[in-house]
Amino acid sequence: MDTDYDIIVVGGGPAGYTAAIYACRANLRTLQVAGIEAGGQLMLTREVENYPGFSRGVLGPDLMENMRQQAENQGVKIIYDNATSVNFRSYPLEVYVNEERFRAKAVIVATGASPKWLGLPDERRLLGRGVSSCATCDGPLFRGTDSTVVVGGGDTAMEYTLFLSNLVSKVYVVHRRDSLRASKVLAERAMKNPKVEFVWNSVVEGILGERKVEAVKVRNVKTDEVREIACQSVFVAIGHKPNTEIFQGQLELDEEGYVKVYDGMRTSVPGVFAAGDVHDRRYRQAVTAAGYGCMAAMEAIWFIERGEPEKLLKP
Ligand code: NAP
Repeated sequence: MDTDYDIIVVGGGPAGYTAAIYACRANLRTLQVAGIEAGGQLMLTREVENYPGFSRGVLGPDLMENMRQQAENQGVKIIYDNATSVNFRSYPLEVYVNEERFRAKAVIVATGASPKWLGLPDERRLLGRGVSSCATCDGPLFRGTDSTVVVGGGDTAMEYTLFLSNLVSKVYVVHRRDSLRASKVLAERAMKNPKVEFVWNSVVEGILGERKVEAVKVRNVKTDEVREIACQSVFVAIGHKPNTEIFQGQLELDEEGYVKVYDGMRTSVPGVFAAGDVHDRRYRQAVTAAGYGCMAAMEAIWFIERGEPEKLLKP
């Protein structure tokens, strides 16, 4: 069959690298379109202590660099650019990087998810000037400042809160309800921390400051009372959005845009498999993403070995 590659992996996080490593080790011609900012969300993390195999933990960017080198050493051809479109309506499957077209027998979609934003105009304006979605990356910039605000009530918000409490004198957690979504252990740790103050039932309505963050405007949704909290930074930790724009109209997505996955990591299109946060809203861990990458690659390998590509080409 006339294809450039047997398998194309789209995505450059743990799911993508793992899938590419497995595909290449099955002696299949493997292309990985890893993205301009290859590495995924672990590039925004510091210590990763729950990825097995590292008795003292590992830095997120170091873990990703190791995965990248491992994939290259196995012979994966990696492009550090974004896939700009796909055509899954014909076969072989097509993936475009700008004008360049690549054709393959199977595609593994592993484009992950990105942080959500509050949608305030000042959030964009002050991004990088105190507004951030990653405390582990940007928190150290605010070491020794008086106060910071974390928005959200999930595990990420609590992780950020605990991390920032070691750097900043006071951490305000603004949460829209009066109870946390975060796991008990993280929630309790944050609640017991004397540097942390919870601002319950409240939403951030504005971020103030000319050239850098100086305060946030917060409204209590029960009383409608509005107050300003002085701070030098704001960390938004309100969840993630799957990176599936280029698959719209090509793959079945759910109402929030996650790729719908069927038994065997299959998507709605034969030969296209999905792995990691792009379909998984439940576990969202580096290790589960890597596991899904392995599963999707094995399914893609079996799909090719079973002779499915030839069947798809028959008139
Ligand atoms: P999440 O669990 O979806 O939590 C998002 C939080 O933001 C929720 O508290 C939500 O409020 C709030 N929120 C959402 N949209 C909002 C908006 N527009 N305005 C204000 N608040 C808003 O996201 P996450 O914390 O990033 O965690 C994602 C997944 O990763 C979870 O499964 C989590 O367990 C996992 N995780 C685990 C760890 C760990 O185990 N160490 C660390 C980080 C993440 P509501 O509660 O009212 O919905």
